[in-house]
Amino acid sequence: MKKKTAGIHHITAIVENPKENISFYLEVLGLRLVKKTVNFDDPGTYHLYFGDSEGSPGTIMTFFPWNQARRGRTGSGQVDTTVFAVPLGSLAFWKERLTAFGVKVEQFGRYNEAYLRFQDPHGLHLELTERPPAGNSSSRVPEGYAIQGFAGAVLNSGAPHQTADLLGQVMGMKYVGQEGTYLRFKTEASVGNTIEVSTAPFPRGELGTGTVHHIAFRAQDDEDQLEWQQHMTSHGYATTEVKDRDYFKAIYFRERGGLLFEIATDPPGFTRDEPFDQLGQELKLPVWLEPRREQIEASLEPVHALE
Ligand code: ZN
Repeated sequence: MKKKTAGIHHITAIVENPKENISFYLEVLGLRLVKKTVNFDDPGTYHLYFGDSEGSPGTIMTFFPWNQARRGRTGSGQVDTTVFAVPLGSLAFWKERLTAFGVKVEQFGRYNEAYLRFQDPHGLHLELTERPPAGNSSSRVPEGYAIQGFAGAVLNSGAPHQTADLLGQVMGMKYVGQEGTYLRFKTEASVGNTIEVSTAPFPRGELGTGTVHHIAFRAQDDEDQLEWQQHMTSHGYATTEVKDRDYFKAIYFRERGGLLFEIATDPPGFTRDEPFDQLGQELKLPVWLEPRREQIEASLEPVHALE
């Protein structure tokens, strides 16, 4: 069986204060908060989803804000950098905008593309680079400059060549080539389509605030995901059972370089339990947690989408 993922579905990271998290990703980066829910495995913690206006696969950045958690350290076995795509010709605008918000920005080049490198308020490594627009706009950023979704991600692997084999030979990504210490892979989606594996040696990463928890790749639907589960198992990767995350279904596996990979279905998406124009406004809980709503709400610091 040959399988091919369309690209990144979402990336999930750990941060500190949820208000600071919302303020940065909404006000500075201009993403939309498309869902305010809790970590289904730890309902005393928020799970905040940001993305384009619909929360399309390939644009979804999600966070577990752990107020009291210790700072992590980015290293091998983790996504090093999450890269967002901005429209062609807009990097200078973003350099000025980030600087105006007090964000320290460094500009550099990779694969003949210009990048802005910076960190979010909790130390998460982010970059912006220019890509053809995918049609997203934002109420907080002038017309023509909005983040379009992910350009891609840079992976730090404890076994870079095994990770590269996984991406190319098992997950169906196209190998573009090597530049310096980076191996680049492409997928066919219009966003979230560029994965780079760093071959530089790094000390092992430590999970904590300011680090990525996992990266999810796209499955078309439930049937496709079951094929992925079988496909990964046949290549020697132990996957979890299918977990219902309400807005998609998920399976997880640990790849050989230490990264936690997820495969998530495109449907049903974020309008499953609230209308498009109200996305992210209310705290949404899965049906099985509704009986505990009062207790859950009491344990969470109230946060709002600042619409
Ligand atoms: Zn996930």
